Formats: sequence, C-alpha cells, structure tokens
Amino acid sequence: MKPVDSERIRVYYEDLSNEELEKIVRNDLKDLSSVALAFIEAEIKKRKLDLNLEAIADEMNDSDAQEGNEHLADIESYIASLPDKDLEELIVKESNRLNPTTLAFAKEQARQRNVKTNIDAGSEVQTRDLTNAELSSYASIIRHLDCPKCKKSQQYINGTMEYNIYSIIFLTYRSKKIKIACRDCLKKINNAALLKSMLAGWWGIPWGILLTPVYIYRNISIRSQYKSDEPNILLLSFINEHRGIIELYKNDKEKLQEALSKL
Ligand SMILES: [Zn+2]
Repeated sequence: MKPVDSERIRVYYEDLSNEELEKIVRNDLKDLSSVALAFIEAEIKKRKLDLNLEAIADEMNDSDAQEGNEHLADIESYIASLPDKDLEELIVKESNRLNPTTLAFAKEQARQRNVKTNIDAGSEVQTRDLTNAELSSYASIIRHLDCPKCKKSQQYINGTMEYNIYSIIFLTYRSKKIKIACRDCLKKINNAALLKSMLAGWWGIPWGILLTPVYIYRNISIRSQYKSDEPNILLLSFINEHRGIIELYKNDKEKLQEALSKL
C-alpha cells in the first residue's frame, strides 16, 4: 500500500500551482509529514521557487514564541491587577499548579506590595503532605470556627458529602461536594440533597433511573458521618485540600472564616 500512497502524495503536489504550493508551505509546514515535505522540496527545486523551508520554519517558531510571551504577559497583567487578598490566596491555592515563572512573578508582586500575611508558609504547605500533628491542629482550628452556613458557634464544625443527581430528558447530571458546617446545618444540607435527588434524579433515561437509587443510598449512608463527635474523614479531606489557605489565615479567624465560606 505504501508506494501507492506516496505516489498519490507526489502527484498531488505535482499538480498544485506555484501559489497553492507556497500557501501550503507558509500555513501548514509544521503539520506536514516527512514524505510530503520531501515531495514539496523536490517541487520547489524543480520549479526553482524562491522558498526556503528552513527560514520559513524559523519564522513560524519565532511567532509561536512571541505568542507564548504575549500569553505570559496577559497572565502577568492579570496577576498585577488582583487586589492584595486575591493575590495572596491565588499564590497559596495554586502553588502546586502554577508554572514556576508565574509563581515567582506573583510572589514578587506580593513582596513589592508589602503583603504581610504568611504567603510563604501557606504556599509551602500546599505543595506537600501534612503531618498528622498538622492535620489535627488544623482540625481543631476549623472545628472552633463559626458555622459557615448559619454563622452560629454552638456546635463544632464537621463535614458531609452532598450527593446530587438531576435529570433533564436524556441527560443526567451528577455531582458530589464536601460541605463543612455545624451538625444542624449538615443535617439540612444532607436532607436537601436527598430530597432533590429523589425528586429530580429519576427523569433521565437510562442513567437517571439506574443511578438515582445509588445517590439516594449515598445521601442516606453518609448521615452516620456528621453525627460523629470527632472530626470525620470528610472534614479531614476538606482540610487537606485547602491546607494552604488554612495555614495562610490560621491566626486570623475572620479572614479564615471568610475564605472558607467561599469554598
Ligand atoms: Zn450551622
């Protein structure tokens, strides 16, 4: 098969006009196979066209690099435009995801603005695993906060998983999210998710019918978790996920409270 294929490619390029050939070289040079390139080079030579493939490839790389730089400049001007609080939260939350150049730029911004919070410690914690001692010390901080939902402080904070399923004709949407709150609010969150799944899950064919019982079961079986007096596994997972932010604001209850209520 191969010789026939390459013969077809050769004939294809042979039949192109000079203008068409040049257009392909200038637009698609990087996507061409080596076989196609070999035929194009032969055609250029045969027709004595003034097309230098190497120079065109260099030009293309330069413009890609420039595009990359422009993209970086966009990100940097976005970072520079952030208010102090958003800047420090971005650095801490995204420390393990931002590329090193962008992270260094963001940290330099914070330094220049004289942002005083604990960015370095928060960012360091976000990029590594917590020790058990750190996890339980964070758990104790979080458990003593006011409930992010009802704002009261009579009960210790714990966690639950909110399982949602709803269907619209053939489409069935599913989600699960860890929620932290006081025990009364966790109960309300759980009941609301259960009711919503019972009412809205069924109507999709086939996944709504098949999966709604699973989601109902999950919402019921998760109840034992928030009834626990100890910090449960969901609270600990939440803490682990947001460890950088907790470290950042651990000495400022108000800021910590506010940051967690947005998560
Ligand atoms: Zn509450």
